[in-house]
Amino acid sequence: MPDLVLPPAPVLPGATHLHSGKVRDLYRLDEGADAGKLLMVASDRISAFDFVLSPGIPDKGEILTRMSLWWFDQLADLVSNHLVSLDVPVEVTGRAVVCEPLEMFPVECVARGYLTGSGLLDYRATGEVCGIPLPEGLEDGSRLPEPVFTPATKAALGDHDENVSFDAVVATVGAGDAAALRELTLTVYDRAERIARERGIILADTKLEFGRHSESGEIVLADEVLTPDSSRFWPADRWEPGRSQPSYDKQFVRDWLLSPASGWDRASGEPPPALPDDVVAQTRAKYVEAYERLTGERW
Ligand code: ATP
Ligand code: MG
Repeated sequence: MPDLVLPPAPVLPGATHLHSGKVRDLYRLDEGADAGKLLMVASDRISAFDFVLSPGIPDKGEILTRMSLWWFDQLADLVSNHLVSLDVPVEVTGRAVVCEPLEMFPVECVARGYLTGSGLLDYRATGEVCGIPLPEGLEDGSRLPEPVFTPATKAALGDHDENVSFDAVVATVGAGDAAALRELTLTVYDRAERIARERGIILADTKLEFGRHSESGEIVLADEVLTPDSSRFWPADRWEPGRSQPSYDKQFVRDWLLSPASGWDRASGEPPPALPDDVVAQTRAKYVEAYERLTGERW
C-alpha cells in the first residue's frame, strides 16, 4: 500500500480541520449561521493508481464542485442531498460547499451500465460482477443488459476499494438500508445516464456515497456526484466495445503514467513522476470539456 503524502490542509478562520482525503479537505464550521455544519473543500489534487500526483490540475476543485452542484439540481426531485449553503470562507470560494454532517454508510454505491475497469476484471475471472452473473461474450466497454448495482467497500486512505456482493452490504448495513441504497443508486444512474446521453456522453458507471441524517433518519445523497473523478464519461460517438474507450475522466493521466514517456515503473511501488506541463494542460482541458458538454455552460 503506497503511503499517501498530502499537502497540509489550508487553515480557515472559523473552521476546524477534520479530515483530508485524496482530493477533498473536510472542516467543521465553528461560527455563524452554519455552525456545526460541514465544510467540504475540493482541492486541485488529482489521484491515480492510489497516488496523489503532483502538480495539481488548475481549477479542478472548482470545476468538480460546480459540476456536482449542477447534478444535485438535476436529481433534486429523486433524492435529498447534503447541501446546506454556498456561504463559504472567501479563501475557498467556488470550490467549497457547506453540507449536513451525515453518518456515512461505509459502502461505495456503484452503478454500472457498461462493463470496464474492476467490473471487467471480475467478469473475466468469474463471469460475475459483485456476485451478479452476466451474459457470456462481453468485452471492454460492452453495454450491460441492464444497469447493475456493484457496491464496493470504502478503503482506508491509500488502499484500493474492493468490490463486494449485495449480501455483504446487507451484512454491513442491514437488509432494509441495503435495498434502499441499491434502489437509490440505480434511480440516480438512470436519470443521469439519460441526461448525459442527450448530450452525446455515455455514463458508463458512477460511484455515489450516501449518509444518514442524524435527526430525520433519512438517507441522503452526499459527497460529490457524477464528476469525472467519480464516474466514467465516454464520448458516445467514439464508443466501440472491445477496447478501452476514450474518456473524460483521468484516463488521460493514467495512460501517460503507463506510457514509456513517463519513465515510471508501476510495479516498483515508487511514486509516479511529476506531471509535465502539457499533460497538466491537457488534463485540465478534459475536465473543462466534460463540464461544458454536460452542463451546456461555458467554463
Ligand atoms: P478517497 O476519495 O481519496 O478514496 P475519501 O473519499 O476519504 O478518500 P475525499 O473524497 O477526498 O476522500 O473526501 C471526502 C470525504 O468526505 C469522504 O470520506 C466522504 O465519505 C466524506 N463525506 C462527504 N459528504 C459527507 C457528509 N455530508 N457528511 C460526512 N462525510 C461526508
Ligand atoms: Mg472520495
